[in-house]
Amino acid sequence: QNAFFENMQLEDRFDEAIGEHQFKAYYQPKCNPKTGEIVGCEALVRWVQEDGTMLSPDRFIPLFEKNGDIVKLDKYVLEETCAKIRKWLDLGYDVSPISVNVSLLQLLDENFVEDHIKTVEKYGIPLNLIEVEFTESILAENESLLISLTKQCKKHGIKVLLDDFGSGYSSLNMLNLLPCDIVKLDKRFVDKLETDDKSKAIVLSAISLAHTLQMSVTAEGIETKSQYDLLKEMHCDTIQGFYCAKPMPEKEYENLIKG
Ligand code: C2E
Ligand code: CA
Ligand code: CA
Repeated sequence: QNAFFENMQLEDRFDEAIGEHQFKAYYQPKCNPKTGEIVGCEALVRWVQEDGTMLSPDRFIPLFEKNGDIVKLDKYVLEETCAKIRKWLDLGYDVSPISVNVSLLQLLDENFVEDHIKTVEKYGIPLNLIEVEFTESILAENESLLISLTKQCKKHGIKVLLDDFGSGYSSLNMLNLLPCDIVKLDKRFVDKLETDDKSKAIVLSAISLAHTLQMSVTAEGIETKSQYDLLKEMHCDTIQGFYCAKPMPEKEYENLIKG
């Protein structure tokens, strides 16, 4: 069967899949390299189909970005995440912030910030417990929009994270313009840390610049102990990657934070 028809079928099944809760948020812990403690996590969506097979987001997110369904999907992930946080707060767990990914289409909706706040408040959750990840690629064509939305979020105490930083669209100078709270260094940026002295110098200067601007730095895609140790030495604030933990189902994450 060709890809065209497979993609069409996935698109056709979207509404049913949302209705039947086939989309699941997985949570990938972020840790503080100084203490080893979990300081939060990122919600990453998976599609568990009727037959139990799981699709990764790379398989369906691009389709839904094209046909517009991504807006519904991102709202769904936000609601699921809020519901989980509500449950954990009620159980008395110490809940750290969870970040959700926000697509460009969502940001183009002029009610984005208002809708976000309404949803989070509907669950009675403090706004600082849900962080929003805006990806660097949005900057290329929508720089002023991103800057103004970031300011709006900050005004309400919603932390903004610049995702995929260093993947190609922005320069270090961008950090001067975008008042985000957290910079997330892209995997490609940190992959060469161990082998290439130039990369090391660049990562180090990105971290110091971010710190000078009062931003916190998260490194993502960390797979080895030596990457972890290097970033710790460089005072990187938070680490996310398979070396610490893979994205996990809600129940598993719950067990981690309750312990
Ligand atoms: P992303 O936001 O950059 O998320 C990080 C991706 O890197 C995740 O892939 C994560 O599982 C993976 N990852 C984490 N640590 C490591 C590591 O040590 N090594 C390697 N090789 N990979 C690592 P995932 O879950 O497949 O998600 C892929 C992309 O799909 C995400 O990239 C994000 O752009 C998008 N995505 C996922 N969930 C959502 C969502 O709810 N909404 C939107 N709009 N996009 C989403
Ligand atoms: Ca992300
Ligand atoms: Ca990323």
